[in-house]
Amino acid sequence: MKKFYTLSIAVCLSVFVSAQTATFTFTYTGFTPQAQAAFEYAAGIWAHTVVSAVPIKVLAHFQQLPTGTLGITFPNGRKNFTNAPLPDKWYSTSLANSIAGVELNPGEVDIEIYLSSTTNWYYDSTGTVPSGKYDFVTIALHELCHGLGFLSIAKKTGTTGSLGMLTSTDFYPFTTSYPWPNLDTLPSVFDSFLVTDQNEQLDTFPNPSILLGSKLTSNAIYFNGTNAMAANNGTRPRIYAPLTFALGSSITHFNEATYPAGNINELMTPNGNPGYKLHDPGPLCIGVLKDIGWTISPNVGIAETNKEEPIFSVYPNPAYDYLFTSSSISNEKIKSIELKNMLGEKMMDMENNSRVSVSDLPKGVYFIIFKTLNYQSVQKFIKG
Ligand SMILES: [Zn+2]
Repeated sequence: MKKFYTLSIAVCLSVFVSAQTATFTFTYTGFTPQAQAAFEYAAGIWAHTVVSAVPIKVLAHFQQLPTGTLGITFPNGRKNFTNAPLPDKWYSTSLANSIAGVELNPGEVDIEIYLSSTTNWYYDSTGTVPSGKYDFVTIALHELCHGLGFLSIAKKTGTTGSLGMLTSTDFYPFTTSYPWPNLDTLPSVFDSFLVTDQNEQLDTFPNPSILLGSKLTSNAIYFNGTNAMAANNGTRPRIYAPLTFALGSSITHFNEATYPAGNINELMTPNGNPGYKLHDPGPLCIGVLKDIGWTISPNVGIAETNKEEPIFSVYPNPAYDYLFTSSSISNEKIKSIELKNMLGEKMMDMENNSRVSVSDLPKGVYFIIFKTLNYQSVQKFIKG
């Protein structure tokens, strides 16, 4: 698992584990220990990606699914809750809870996931996926993302398309432990960002209607969110909208052909790929999550752009009695840490992940110079 390091004066001196920004709780039916471990590994990736003060409750079933189906996810939903950014849109409860700052659905789970127990899975989170096997972590990561709200509630029956008319019988025999809400012909917040190639919003068409039905299978649907577009060089990411509507695949994914296996944005396409893994949501998915209302951990961007660069910090600033140093790399890789005054004169040598007394230093501005074999960082601090 990728480690994210945090640069914060609040960080305890000796703690350099990555910063978890959300908590998941789990209830399982039918899981094996190795499936459970891989599932929690995937949830851990999301726990370091999205920010929520309210624990995200997951009920996961490990059982036989229809042939060819790897997973099915039902996010619980709320609309028009306190602080809802957009009115009359369905939000996954994990997102609604995060925005509201309180648990809006006590006694109900947020995400209900079915994963196939008969698939030829690869459970190891670290190794190379053998050809012919499906990577469990990748698929769990994908399904959990639907649970977080990467989800359309569009449907097409005959030629008629609709938003917010899904019922539990559409997914028979799969059910949810929480009451299926009356969706009230309202779109999900994800749906509210979808547009045609003419930039017409899907949720502005008559609902239900044959016109909306034709758009759902137009092979020309795009996600019109500013964050997703910014992550896509200013253009709208393409949504999967094949000419034949497939419930559970159409509209609720990125377009398969645009983001094929190997693409960094492949996670949220409809098809899983054997012999292949992706343990990163990818920038377009992160953009979509931001657009629908998620706060994303600031460490996500750092990890992407700054992977090789160590992070050094000194604190507190200003310092009066003691000054602490910390870094994201091991002590043996550090060449030197020197404290210098404004004239560039070395006042003392410092150790990594330690503290020194600065009470004898005159008040003023000082510099800490961290050096490794191929990197240098200079930080200013004030002796108060
Ligand atoms: Zn999916």
